[in-house]
Amino acid sequence: MIEANAEIGTFEVVTQNPDQTMRLGRLLGEILPPGSFVALVGSLGAGKTLLTKGLARGLGVEDDREVTSPSFVLVNEYRGRIPVYHLDLYRLDSYAEVEGIGWDEFVAGPGVTLVEWADKVAEELPEERIEIHLQWAGEEKRRLVFSGKGRPGQTLIEELRHKWEKEE
Ligand code: ADP
Ligand code: MG
Repeated sequence: MIEANAEIGTFEVVTQNPDQTMRLGRLLGEILPPGSFVALVGSLGAGKTLLTKGLARGLGVEDDREVTSPSFVLVNEYRGRIPVYHLDLYRLDSYAEVEGIGWDEFVAGPGVTLVEWADKVAEELPEERIEIHLQWAGEEKRRLVFSGKGRPGQTLIEELRHKWEKEE
């Protein structure tokens, strides 16, 4: 029973092409409530930015050409149905750098925050969050593991699973 419980709020998919990854992102973006924090973890080319494009689309960001990795400025802001903050911490040297651009607001504010390379500030992540681990699984395949940390996140991931299974 404990094992079965451990699975609640965790959802694993192997997407077969970039479009599927986009679509998954869009489905999740459509149900993310204000104040959500999404931690994206995976190596270069795993699909974090592509998934973020889908998330942004689902959040109501019309033009996903805007959605590019903000490696040098650390954060991009998009206008969706709620403000969307997109961070990429690949080049981050220390937590002080994100603290300086208003990390607390990203963690606790009413917008939606999407963070690539979130594992670089593992200690600073809010307890309630969505975590998405991405892994290369072939030229056009990526393994995506979604997990909700905290009860609201778990419910959200179960909802995502239902939406995905309905579309497939
Ligand atoms: P990251 O931000 O993790 O470095 P990107 O999203 O920028 O990765 O790049 C992912 C690359 O992998 C893109 O060129 C994309 O077209 C390619 N790709 C191939 N198959 C997939 C897939 N199933 N899901 C996501 N990206 C894929
Ligand atoms: Mg990226």
